[in-house]
Amino acid sequence: MGGEMKKLSKRLIDENQAVCAESLKIKNMMQNPHLAKAIADAAWGELYRMLAYRAKRAGKRFVCIDTFFPSSKTCSARGHKLDKLDLATREWACPKCGARHDRDRNASKNVRAEGIRMMKAAGQTVLKRVLPA
Ligand SMILES: [Zn+2]
Repeated sequence: MGGEMKKLSKRLIDENQAVCAESLKIKNMMQNPHLAKAIADAAWGELYRMLAYRAKRAGKRFVCIDTFFPSSKTCSARGHKLDKLDLATREWACPKCGARHDRDRNASKNVRAEGIRMMKAAGQTVLKRVLPA
């Protein structure tokens, strides 16, 4: 696991000016509540530490988004927020604007937008190429 994680963290930092991640989101996807959560938290914690370290060394940015940020149930097209979204729902259509979303792609767009918002709020320069298209 350690080697794979080193490779992944290196690739993510090498290929991007900034990496935005959501903290410990994996816990929501795990079936076995106690053991799986402990393993997942430890592994994600390690990956995040590596990303933060590599980003700092490379002069790049690593932004960790709070767990309470509603990345899954927010419409990435217009920002509409659902009251709830079942874990089993992989695709959904926004009831307000009709945009169709793949659960994971939608969540990652929202995490990216939130990361950029946080960097700007912190007064950091955000390069054009990390802005959403
Ligand atoms: Zn919408």
